[in-house]
Amino acid sequence: MALHTTEELTAAPTHAVETCSHDAAAETYLFPERKQDAHQVYECIHQQLVLDGNSQQNLATFCTTWIEPEVEQLMAECADKNMIDKDEYPQTAAIEERCVHMLADLWNSPEAATTIGCSTTGSSEAAMLGGLALKLNWRKRRKAAGKSIDTPNLIMGPVQVCWHKFCRYFDVEIREVPMEGDSLLLTAEEVLKRCDENTIGVVVTLGVTFTLQFEPVHAISLALDKLEEETGLHVPIHVDGASGAFLAPFTQPDLLWDFRLPRVKSINASGHKFGLAPLGVGWALWREKQDLPEELIFEVNYLGGNMPTFALNFSRPGGEIICQYYNFLRLGKEGYREIQTECAALGRYLAERIAEFGPFKIIYDGEGGIPGLCWELKDPAGSNFTLYDYADRLRERGWLVPAYSQPPNREDLVIQRILIRHGFTRAMADELLAEMQSALAHFEESPIDMALTGAETGGHDHSGR
Ligand SMILES: *Cc1c(COP(=O)(O)O)cnc(C)c1O
Repeated sequence: MALHTTEELTAAPTHAVETCSHDAAAETYLFPERKQDAHQVYECIHQQLVLDGNSQQNLATFCTTWIEPEVEQLMAECADKNMIDKDEYPQTAAIEERCVHMLADLWNSPEAATTIGCSTTGSSEAAMLGGLALKLNWRKRRKAAGKSIDTPNLIMGPVQVCWHKFCRYFDVEIREVPMEGDSLLLTAEEVLKRCDENTIGVVVTLGVTFTLQFEPVHAISLALDKLEEETGLHVPIHVDGASGAFLAPFTQPDLLWDFRLPRVKSINASGHKFGLAPLGVGWALWREKQDLPEELIFEVNYLGGNMPTFALNFSRPGGEIICQYYNFLRLGKEGYREIQTECAALGRYLAERIAEFGPFKIIYDGEGGIPGLCWELKDPAGSNFTLYDYADRLRERGWLVPAYSQPPNREDLVIQRILIRHGFTRAMADELLAEMQSALAHFEESPIDMALTGAETGGHDHSGR
């Protein structure tokens, strides 16, 4: 990649770096008139970035914050690679294709070597593709039966915001099963209540954003089998495995959630979450080739060669996909299992210790879902702090431990959550526990005046990342 022309490299800086004058906010929004010295501009931006948070202490995000030096090196080598340009970068294209089939194998597609799938920018784009395929397949079935295609609906539990986007952007009625009491996940019973001839599918989440738990894909699949036997209604399942699709295959190989269940027609996953790839890659796969409607595929020939494309984006960096492939080869099932098992153990360790603190009731203890834990206050009304206060206090020490309210009908429930990702260590867990204890001691000494702050609900949502 040619980053500089010779003239630019030899040109002396003409004046001080404009972008570094932060005196007036308005000024930083002006497009600079003159060119500037590369090194000075680099230093200026580098200094600004130093003030970003320390991602290792961010226990809110699901995304990769630790990568091997080899991955950094590959990312640098791939800076010029456009993954859509399969003619110019056939090796990158072949690597993407290999990843798709390796994932199909991992997720037990009956036709792993020939099924269809693609990389995406993340699970959000993959979810749009999965939802669109459900919608088009439903339309095809309805048209063949001579029935109306006006009012498609999609059933789901407490989902990540991408599914709300899908339904609004693509005009599908959302049938969201609300949380009720202690039931914070989708159940087969609640799914059945909402199925009708306009249901394009059910989204089951393997690793719910709010509580980290896995929804019961197998039970829902069995219930839908029975429904089909009795009524003829065919309702396919899409699994949102943003996190879980890179966890369950390694840590719970016997859990039935994937293409072993014939009703599971498509799966999305975030390569940049527990797939451990750098930010910017997700995956969408279909069980068998015919599960992806042909209308979603476009043939494009203006980059040379003829190539099918069915993503929402066009140009996209290739580095993340190549690094995903690096992870598959570097770790294998063994390496992923080791890392995920260790993370899960740290989650359970924190859950045990935090339960001992006293004021907290553990909702998810790190067993059976995403590595991590979440809790609520045992007695929010009688407490001298809220979980939002607690999160703020920990934030002062650099730890990002988000507190957030739940979706309908449990908006009253405030949960605090920790995610354990690769790179988090036992020593960091112990540091965090010490900070958490000292924050509790602080509230003991100087209680928050709850009358002043009021019962907090909205405006504190850190949940969706
Ligand atoms: C993170 C997440 C998404 C969105 O994925 P991105 O890769 O951030 O686009 C969707 N669903 C679930 C369950 C998630 O955890």
